[in-house]
Amino acid sequence: MGPFTDNPALSISSLGEKALLAQIRLWLGEAAPPSPAGMGDDCAVFAMEPAKASLITTDSVVLNRHFLESDPPALVGRKLLHRNLSDIAAMGGIPLRAVIAGFLPRTVSLAWLEACIRSLAAEALQHRVDIIGGDLTETTHDLALNMTLLGSATSPLLRSGARPGDHIGVTGPLGGSRLGRHLRFAARLEEGKQLSALPGIHACMDISDGLAVDLPGMLSPDCSAALDLAAIPLHPDALQASHLSGQPPLWHALHDGEDHELLFMFTPDTAQDQLPPHHCIGRILDHPGGLLLDSKTGAPISDQHGYEHFR
Ligand SMILES: [Mg+2]
Repeated sequence: MGPFTDNPALSISSLGEKALLAQIRLWLGEAAPPSPAGMGDDCAVFAMEPAKASLITTDSVVLNRHFLESDPPALVGRKLLHRNLSDIAAMGGIPLRAVIAGFLPRTVSLAWLEACIRSLAAEALQHRVDIIGGDLTETTHDLALNMTLLGSATSPLLRSGARPGDHIGVTGPLGGSRLGRHLRFAARLEEGKQLSALPGIHACMDISDGLAVDLPGMLSPDCSAALDLAAIPLHPDALQASHLSGQPPLWHALHDGEDHELLFMFTPDTAQDQLPPHHCIGRILDHPGGLLLDSKTGAPISDQHGYEHFR
């Protein structure tokens, strides 16, 4: 099932905005609380949690950028939620409520949108995220969905704060997500929560643009990271991607995006059994430049080939 239809009777244009909104609310089901906590007013009404830090993040799924016409709509809706959940996970937070904006051509198929929204709603319910509002905009042909997700954290983890001597951990294997895992990954919410409760965690983020791009972004100019290349966990997808591209599997683990594993720095005296399951892939050096170095040879690892937008 593709996102578009030539038959106006099967497209969102058959309903118009008001009826479509009512339909979306129906598809969201229990994930959409009643007014005034949810849809139905000009704003949704809620109270921030006192004594906790409030978190807010936003991410989109755009046709031909984050998904293809041939991708199952249920996975597109799932991905929209999990891209946002992953940012909350990276901060050690708990997701709470979200608004969704749809940018839709009138030829979008009702069946496609229903499958997308119902899947998103099921995932939202499972993660106790309320969908409390949104907006619909008609576009000429671009199709995109955006979510803004709110959450809270007792002690938010930041990207900055890595210190020389820290070990570098990653919660799972990397590489080759574009073969399909980018639609199915599960945000590391439990791991993020566990990390944020520990005193020795100095920095954390979720890997979205590739280890070789994201890790340097966590380093201050007066330190560098020494990576034990043999310790970087390779996902089976990285091996398959390697067969297709001719690049080594490690190249894919370093440079492919959308892994959404947590990358974090911790003091070496952190009790291993308190940490979530992880692979230790290197450590932070007292070496200026914010570089990635091969821990065996000391040679710099290129950071030029990860995914960077607008380049
Ligand atoms: Mg992120």
